[in-house]
Amino acid sequence: AAATAAATEEPIQPPVDVKYTKLLINGNFVDAASGKTFATVDPRTGDVIARVAEGDAEDVNRAVAAARRAFDEGPWPRMTAYERCRVLLRFADLIEQHADEIAALETWDGGKTLEQTTGTEVPMVARYMRYYGGWADKIHGLVVPADGPHHVQVLHEPIGVAGQIIPWNFPLLMFAWKVGPALACGNAVVLKTAEQTPLSALFVASLLHEAGLPDGVLNVVSGFGPTAGAALSSHMGVDKLAFTGSTGTGKIVLELAARSNLKPVTLELGGKSPFIVMDDADVDQAVELAHRALFFNQGQCCCAGSRTFVHERVYDEFVEKARARALQRVVGDPFRTGVEQGPQIDGEQFKKILQYVKSGVDSGATLVAGGDRAGSRGFYIQPTVFADVEDEMKIAQEEIFGPVQSILKFSTVEEVVRRANATPYGLAAGVFTQRLDAANTLARALRVGTVWVNTYDVFDAAVPFGGYKMSGVGREKGVYSLRNYLQTKAVVTPIKDAAW
Ligand code: ADP
Repeated sequence: AAATAAATEEPIQPPVDVKYTKLLINGNFVDAASGKTFATVDPRTGDVIARVAEGDAEDVNRAVAAARRAFDEGPWPRMTAYERCRVLLRFADLIEQHADEIAALETWDGGKTLEQTTGTEVPMVARYMRYYGGWADKIHGLVVPADGPHHVQVLHEPIGVAGQIIPWNFPLLMFAWKVGPALACGNAVVLKTAEQTPLSALFVASLLHEAGLPDGVLNVVSGFGPTAGAALSSHMGVDKLAFTGSTGTGKIVLELAARSNLKPVTLELGGKSPFIVMDDADVDQAVELAHRALFFNQGQCCCAGSRTFVHERVYDEFVEKARARALQRVVGDPFRTGVEQGPQIDGEQFKKILQYVKSGVDSGATLVAGGDRAGSRGFYIQPTVFADVEDEMKIAQEEIFGPVQSILKFSTVEEVVRRANATPYGLAAGVFTQRLDAANTLARALRVGTVWVNTYDVFDAAVPFGGYKMSGVGREKGVYSLRNYLQTKAVVTPIKDAAW
């Protein structure tokens, strides 16, 4: 109870004003064509922070037209690569100069702790932008040897107008992962933010223009999925689509892309990632890491370690300590120093998570911590731990996207590999052991895009991220992300004098 007391205190006044609430089209902040707006809500209280222009199909048309002009006729793809690099580097500087404001906006709109947005997320956005800025003037093609007297060049060209749809759990980081590589490669972008968190992208997009981005190269449309998001996915003027969100919505956008103009699609989707604790583990360390792997960002991570597999020899001790750690977790106003967990994003997720908790209890899992809302206002949920979870239970199969840890018992490496892989997802996994052979076996056998050994949630601009199976298509970050935003053109010319 002490841990959750902060959730009942008066909310702290956010140290920031909301400056941008309109759509960003062709370098201008404009109202939606329909004149409609929607409310974005403070998850600490459920109160409205601001009303935001609600883009729909007509606004997507305007944004795509602006992006097309910027790409087909405008300066961006024709600028020198070094000039594009410098815009992204200046943008990174501006992010750092406005770091406090950006972090506060992100915390207010999304309920993430200010320590996390200030300490990690905003600095990472600047880091990503410098990483991609660094790529801008290092992207080049090849000359390949062909049979016969031919000179063959392979050109790497920007793909054109990229449509990008991002979720609410990491609004700024998803902005960086998507917009960074697209711009570095010389593309124009129409970005559709999540309806729960429209504010931070509008703010940083204004900084990107201050950094020298030409009008129309980045357009930001706030709005809802089935309207704005679907219009972007099926638009004939969009050359490439990048989506991060749920697996169900990923299937919809892939289908819309296929039915319209077959634009290539990259998808970063859901997960049910295993975190595997072997019998040689230092239990205290394993408990702490498994705790963070699940509870980070209120449990709202696609790669959350949401199936904690613990070897039978350390299981009882692990469960007891995981329970104690969850009970200690400090839940409260994300603007308050020392708070580890803020509110969930909205009422819908809040209800869904509590239904999963009920389903865990009903299916016979042992509730050892939490299980209810925290406080009486907003969308706070108690850090919750289930032990004795079985593979076929809903809480072990479906993505909960909340602060609910499920602990499962195993006895052999073969068994845990089979069970860890027995899911349609394949995003990430954690392995905790000092034994090199066990770590290597698990790292190779797990069908996932990232394996963290004795660590978790380490993200780096240069390291690829993405899913196996129904966790996604393609990779983001690192050199892999550039491939999503480049076309490959072969240019063949005869060599008249074969001697040369
Ligand atoms: P969540 O359930 O976590 O909100 P979604 O996958 O629904 O995850 O949302 C991720 C992003 O996809 C958001 O920007 C949302 O507006 C968008 N979206 C939702 N439905 C659709 C759709 N039918 N077409 C295109 N985009 C959509």
